[in-house]
Amino acid sequence: MINKPLVFALTSDFSGTARGKSFPLEDLPARQLKGIGWTPTNVQITCFDSIAESPFGALGDLLLIPNAETLVDIDFEDGSLPERFVIGDVTNLAGEPWEYCSRSILKDALNQLKKHGGASLFSAFEHEFQIKDNQVQANSAYALSGFSNRRQLGEVLMAALEKAGLNLDSFMKEYGANQYEVVVGPETGIKSADFAVILRELTRASAKRCGLDATFSPILDPDSVGNGVHIHMSFLDDDGQPLTYDANGVAGMSTLTGSFIAGILKYLDSIVALTAPSAISYIRLAPNRWSAAFNNLGFLDREAAVRICPLSTKDEDKRAKQYNFEFRAADAAASPYLALASVIYAGVQGIKDNLPMPNITEQDLTSLSNEQLSQQGYTRLPQSLEAALALFENNDVVRGWFPSGFADVYLAHKRGELACLTELNDQQRCDKYKDAY
Ligand code: GLU
Ligand code: MG
Repeated sequence: MINKPLVFALTSDFSGTARGKSFPLEDLPARQLKGIGWTPTNVQITCFDSIAESPFGALGDLLLIPNAETLVDIDFEDGSLPERFVIGDVTNLAGEPWEYCSRSILKDALNQLKKHGGASLFSAFEHEFQIKDNQVQANSAYALSGFSNRRQLGEVLMAALEKAGLNLDSFMKEYGANQYEVVVGPETGIKSADFAVILRELTRASAKRCGLDATFSPILDPDSVGNGVHIHMSFLDDDGQPLTYDANGVAGMSTLTGSFIAGILKYLDSIVALTAPSAISYIRLAPNRWSAAFNNLGFLDREAAVRICPLSTKDEDKRAKQYNFEFRAADAAASPYLALASVIYAGVQGIKDNLPMPNITEQDLTSLSNEQLSQQGYTRLPQSLEAALALFENNDVVRGWFPSGFADVYLAHKRGELACLTELNDQQRCDKYKDAY
């Protein structure tokens, strides 16, 4: 059959969806300069295909400018057409970053970290997802049988990720029904979020090639565990030397790390609207699901919102390099750019305010009364998207990190998404998100 190879230029939008347009591959060099036309109101398309209230209406024009460094072009060698896409930035017609471009917002957050913390971020996204399948394999959690059942998917996916330039770490059968986890290596700056976008798309594409359907929805069954996105972070100076660790700090935190994490914890209840932004994200963010229910710091504790991760060496130089902490209150309903930007902005605020190093939680927070929690500086995270949005809306510090206008448009988007769910119970909501992500 005749064929003209196309490349799809995408932006990861407020719904965490990769949306864009395609053009002939041979035009990529020219499109890198002139972009492709994009429409402001597209940012209000929800994950349920409705259009939330938009201040832009039918007006305005933007450019989606592809960045050829992010080009993914993968032939699965199974006779199907390749997956070919490229990530872009959205700009106005003068070429300036658009206030609602998630990737440009992350670039700004990374610059703020450089400016106020003297650090570059070195980070990695860990993703959990599930295969849509009504049959559940018995006794398969972390099991060889569970892995073997989907070995083909694991091997196709790893091959695709490697071709796309990601550093492979691991693939495993997670605890939940038909749940898997894929882990890749850390990258400096924007690249880890680019790779998160690429990983989600290549996971869906690999599953399709194996006759499977993958979903990154935050939770499929209100009575089971969720699909988390865990973001591992550490800091590097201009020479690539680690800035995260100090043997004398609480649990090995440097002063920089301590203030950064303190900022995340202080503002966490007002940023989860951006890091865990679906209605069902709040079913996942509950105690005893190994996600995050409080704004606390844990040491090797999988119930904590931020967790200091284990080190596997006694050599102090190697410890400093390995040392990293993990943000656990995110899921794949969030654009990786917005999730990471929110976390960085909160951390940078902690650095600017010189917040003291937080303590490690050493008790079961579910056993404390609200009064005891607040005495110790803990907050139960919001328990619905409505509550999370209201906290974001009313926190002027948090709103102020983003370009002017951003918060109101984002809030309208999310409230438009909620409007598609009225009258639905939790399971029906999960079913709807399962097909959206
Ligand atoms: N599935 C859990 C979550 O929703 C995480 C389990 C783990 O620690 O890997 O975040
Ligand atoms: Mg996991």
